[in-house]
This record gives sequence, structure tokens and C-alpha cells, in this order.
Amino acid sequence: MAMTWTELEEACKSCYKCPLGSTRTNIVIGTGNRNADIMFVGEAPGADEDKTGIPFVGAAGKHLDKFLASVGIEREDVYIANILKCRPPNNRDPFPEEQDVCIKYLREQVKLIRPKIIVCLGRISAMRLIDPEFRITKMHGQFYKRGDFYICAVYHPSALLRDPAKNEDMYRDMKAIKKLLDELS
Ligand code: URA
Repeated sequence: MAMTWTELEEACKSCYKCPLGSTRTNIVIGTGNRNADIMFVGEAPGADEDKTGIPFVGAAGKHLDKFLASVGIEREDVYIANILKCRPPNNRDPFPEEQDVCIKYLREQVKLIRPKIIVCLGRISAMRLIDPEFRITKMHGQFYKRGDFYICAVYHPSALLRDPAKNEDMYRDMKAIKKLLDELS
């Protein structure tokens, strides 16, 4: 049975099903418009997100905001979440078993929001939500139809900060996402 938002929040806040539950400062469930047509899914909270309980508020989030603005998508119009709701120590990659536990919360978020487009931010999210063999350098910006929604992946904003040469690809992908969003609205 589908959960309500309140049930989902309570389930997340009382979740200690993996060891990250006991090292988190705050759980980072998601933020934004619960009626959004578009949902962005990152990897896991970092230090700033763990401190505030809000996804993508640090340097990577600010970079993401710039790309949203550059193609005319308002942050208030999107919903943003992560595969993991708790921060992995030292920002290491989420373990598969942590993802296995946490993914059910993301599924509930998708059921509640019913977005028309899901955008995976980075390879971890794309490998979990699109294809375990996903190659971000080759497959970023490609749309896949999954039931009621389209899904695609773009570079993670942290990867763009490390390698600004990828910004051009990101801009192109974000423009294509905005175009599809307009066509579906
Ligand atoms: N990176 C992510 O993948 N998610 C966040 O919330 C912040 C940084």
C-alpha cells in the first residue's frame, strides 16, 4: 500500500535499518515541490546536507541551481532527493546494501510525486535507477521511457566542479530536459 507523506517522513526518521542511521546528524528526505513534473535524484547527502537536513545545499547544490536557472527551470518547481537519505562517512560511495534498504523510500516519493521526468544526478543514481551497467560519459542526456515517466542521467554537479570541461555537455543535456518538460506540460 502506498504511504502518505507523513507516513514516509516518520518511516525515514525512525529508520536505523543500516549503520548510517546511527552516524547521521539529520535525515535528508527531500525538498521542493511535491507536485513537480520533474524530479532530480542524487547519490547521498554530504556534510552540508547532513547538517541542514536538505539535499543539495552545498557547493554541488549551488552549481546545480545555476544550471537549472540557465535553462529556465526554477528550483521551486522541482523536487530533489537522493538514493540514500543518510550521509555515508567521508562521502564514500553508498554501499549496495545501503541502497537496497533506502531505495524503498525513494520509490514511495516517486509514487507520491508522480513526476513526468526523473533526472539522475551522476553515475551512482543512474546505475541504480536506469541500468547497473550505465556509463555516464557515454549515456548522459539519453531519455528512457519507463511506464509513466521518462528517465535520464546527467553528470553529477560535483563532477562538473572537478572537471569544468563537462559543463558544456551538462548545459546541452539540461536544455534537452527543459524542452521535453515543456512538451509534456
Ligand atoms: N551530493 C549528492 O549526491 N546529494 C546531495 O544531497 C549533496 C551532494
